[in-house]
Amino acid sequence: MATRAAIKTLRRGGNAVDASVAAAAVLGVVEPFSCGIGGGGFMVIRRGSDGRVTTIDHRETAPRRMTPRSFMENGKPLAFPDARYSGLSVGVPGTVAGWDLALRRYGTWSLERALAPGTEVSREGFKVDQTFFDQVQANATYFDDVRSTRRLYLDPDGTPRDVGTKLRNRQLARTYRMIAKDGPSAFYRGAISDAIVSAVKQPPVAAGSEHQWRPGVMARRDLRRYRALERKAVRVGYRDYDVYGMGPPSSGATTIGEALKILRAYDLRELGRTETLHRTLEASRLAFADRNAYVADPAFFDVPLRGLLSDSFARDRRALLGASAANAVVAPGNPYDDQGDSAPAAGARAVVERYGSTTHLVVSDEGRTVVSYTFTIESTGGNGVVVPKYGFLLNNELTDFNFDSTTHPNRVQGGKRPRSSMSPTIVVKDGNPVLAVGSPGGSTISTTVLQVLVDWICRIPLPQAIGAPRASQRNTMTTAAEPDFLGSPEGQALAAPPYNHAFSLASPPEIGAVTAIELRRRVRVLAAAEPTRRGGGSAMVVR
Ligand code: GLU
Repeated sequence: MATRAAIKTLRRGGNAVDASVAAAAVLGVVEPFSCGIGGGGFMVIRRGSDGRVTTIDHRETAPRRMTPRSFMENGKPLAFPDARYSGLSVGVPGTVAGWDLALRRYGTWSLERALAPGTEVSREGFKVDQTFFDQVQANATYFDDVRSTRRLYLDPDGTPRDVGTKLRNRQLARTYRMIAKDGPSAFYRGAISDAIVSAVKQPPVAAGSEHQWRPGVMARRDLRRYRALERKAVRVGYRDYDVYGMGPPSSGATTIGEALKILRAYDLRELGRTETLHRTLEASRLAFADRNAYVADPAFFDVPLRGLLSDSFARDRRALLGASAANAVVAPGNPYDDQGDSAPAAGARAVVERYGSTTHLVVSDEGRTVVSYTFTIESTGGNGVVVPKYGFLLNNELTDFNFDSTTHPNRVQGGKRPRSSMSPTIVVKDGNPVLAVGSPGGSTISTTVLQVLVDWICRIPLPQAIGAPRASQRNTMTTAAEPDFLGSPEGQALAAPPYNHAFSLASPPEIGAVTAIELRRRVRVLAAAEPTRRGGGSAMVVR
């Protein structure tokens, strides 16, 4: 339904930005556990008219009253579910401001027009499928605690709506209409913002609920002050390609960029797939060590962007890449030296992260404007609270902070944006866009996009690269891998000498769910989406 909304927008003369917002608004209805106006995201745009690449950061922001200890009780960090299913985890949602800014600067349609398909799907309804059912099932005991969430997503007996049920969300349709009519101020001021603040400060939990839902500290002023930001895209050169992505507060472009720069010295097309995968995994290990130590909201931490992506730093890091797997947590490098600063290395820590979920879409138009857009409410199901009367789930994005630390660059601070792994990416060659790609999957997003980029660079056809079994190395002792990866000839070779990779089964077992467009000559494109993971994606073209 979302893909169709985008195609329809293109047919009616809208550009790729218009079509992205139209598709995203539909996804907010039909994939409400992964994205929506209760969350935030990052959009990378390549403008057809002049080839400029830019980004729209509409990441959620911590309320001003949050502190590094907000998620601690008696000096100890809350357990993840307690932090997540609460008012504390909710960042000020950025999506509405992001859509508005993207459309005003790079679109041709009004927000009103772009929201119309989402409003219609919300009003008319859609069929619950197995993926939707499973995502509710995984949240059922928490959804059941919250009156508004229960009413929308559970049957009266507390089980998910059955597969095949037609689900309407009239409240969300009305919310979209309010935003369509009055613009973002309908969301960031007035009744909707009041409802968000009260759902955060006092989660609408039913009497006798199973869990404790801690209140948050968001104020109306936090919503009023929210701004989406246009930021310069991060560009990394890989041989003939310019790879553009999302810089801080996302770690996407720096992590993928550092890994690609480490790999740049090798002729991957000549190495063979097993050797290429080995080096990609180990480059990813090194890049994640640096990502974990040095990437945070640039308004709060001086991210050594130049150092991380410098040739000299890549050379230093490449020298650590061995013939066999490190099978260890490696220390971060010192990128400050490589940008001519003497600042000391920041507190290095290994961070093992869960994967949440998210959604990704790519759109290109006839004029070669290209959009790569990842947006999210963090975990599948966000914080579990549907805003009463307005029909959308709130995010739990603030658990992307290092909320167990009072010193880490990515610690919780009021007004700050948590570090992300979202990696919407656009690849350009000789001034022409050639690939747009991205994925959901928490911190496996960056490794997924890296693996697909490397496969694609090695001339594996895009649909095959998207469907390929996957492994994800994020500076942990063992490398998380899908069962099919472990069973593949390359997986078996990597586990044996001389590589000796220590693998562990990925949990959940699926890594990533990519959508991508390969842009060919003139107006031809190949649109491709994940075939099976997360129920499969969708891809269409205008003929
Ligand atoms: N919150 C995650 C991030 O920004 C994205 C959600 C997910 O896929 O886990 O990196």
